[in-house]
Amino acid sequence: MPFFLGLDVGSTTTKAALVDASGLLCGQAIVPTGAHGVQSAAVVRDAALAQAGVPINDISADALPDTVSACVATGYGRARVAFAQQTITEITCHARAVRHNHPDVRTALDIGGQDAKVIRFDQHGGVDDFVMNDKCAAGTGSFLDMMTRRFDTTFEQLSNLWQEAPEPVDISATCVVFAESEVVGLLADGVPLPCVLAGIHRAIARRIAAMLEQVRAQGPVAFTGGVAHNESLLRDIGAESGLTIFRAAHPQLAGALGAALLAAGL
Ligand code: ADP
Repeated sequence: MPFFLGLDVGSTTTKAALVDASGLLCGQAIVPTGAHGVQSAAVVRDAALAQAGVPINDISADALPDTVSACVATGYGRARVAFAQQTITEITCHARAVRHNHPDVRTALDIGGQDAKVIRFDQHGGVDDFVMNDKCAAGTGSFLDMMTRRFDTTFEQLSNLWQEAPEPVDISATCVVFAESEVVGLLADGVPLPCVLAGIHRAIARRIAAMLEQVRAQGPVAFTGGVAHNESLLRDIGAESGLTIFRAAHPQLAGALGAALLAAGL
């Protein structure tokens, strides 16, 4: 049976998706990019193949096994995947994955570790328009990562914050570095941490809502990327934009899945 592999080497995580000729997801893997350096692509390749029960047979780090018919790489580090036959942008790959899993949806919102994108596409997955923020960390996962480290919270606490419904405090700084000191000041003034965290979420949501407006997004919008796991942010973006935002299937894997589907000609 032919298999098709998609690799997404992101700034934060490296992902692999393995599909069969019908586009069915048979294997997947996600590892932190930093932990494995240039080897991260081979690590997820082998893990996805093993999960699908495909023999690996001691292949070298830069080879494609015979069991895989084609491989496409995407993501910020796509050029370093030695065994990929083709590289394609994340914009095209996310659009393709969303079109495959959610055929009626025409807008994807991808928020990863260090960038955020809104992509509007047609019924074939062809990109009509997109907007990207990769210059500023304030609207991306790294902002939330910094806050979780700095204030000893967890992804789960952030994600469940909406259930507590704390009154969000206004965060005026537009830059992560200044926001961090502003947050420290707010906490020193006695503002409860949940209100500060809610304020951070609202600030990010406002930035994303402006991006959605820029491409004239129409709902429903499929939320992809690792940050899509954050339920509080998902709700805040919906509230700020007035659009229906939903978590895409396998959100963090969307780039790799789109790459695998393109490798399969789907
Ligand atoms: P990239 O493709 O840029 O490497 P990803 O799409 O893998 O980025 O997203 C990484 C980001 O996802 C992390 O910076 C983190 O903020 C966020 N993230 C990952 N898992 C979770 C989770 N369970 N809940 C909330 N956020 C998460």
